[in-house]
Amino acid sequence: MSVTVCAQTSQAEFHRANLTWFEIAQMAFDLFVWPSKLDENWFMPGGPGVDAAIASRLAIDFHQALQDGRVASYIAIKEAELRQLPIEECETCSGTGVRSDAIGQKYGMTERVIGLQTQSSTDHPRYGEVGWCNGCDGEGRRKPRRYPVVVADVIEFSQFLQVCGGFAVG
Ligand SMILES: [Zn+2]
Repeated sequence: MSVTVCAQTSQAEFHRANLTWFEIAQMAFDLFVWPSKLDENWFMPGGPGVDAAIASRLAIDFHQALQDGRVASYIAIKEAELRQLPIEECETCSGTGVRSDAIGQKYGMTERVIGLQTQSSTDHPRYGEVGWCNGCDGEGRRKPRRYPVVVADVIEFSQFLQVCGGFAVG
């Protein structure tokens, strides 16, 4: 799933995975003081988007936050928060590493040999064992997530904002 942000007055586009786009929007909410007339759904696909005035204000806000290091430290804090989350038991297989619900049975996950019939590498803790889960690659626990935004994403969005003349999200 991905999002394309389309400029109103040029051919410019900003294209990212949903997760990355929603985190960039959250960053804007967290870092900037917003004009009261801004629709709170500005970032939603199919939503109102923003007009030229708000886009240029956002361009200034993002440019300044990139220059003074707020974007970099925001990302560093988010990454640190994710690293501190405990490794969770996989809900899909209740931590067993074998998905045996209706979907798991339909797709033969209970029969699959890990590594030989999955993409898992040889250092998988259950390599060669029978039974797999698509939620956790058969490990029974979910690896820590990575924060989906890097500074380069924000630089590109900032550059898009400078030329877009307002935008719509699709
Ligand atoms: Zn699982």
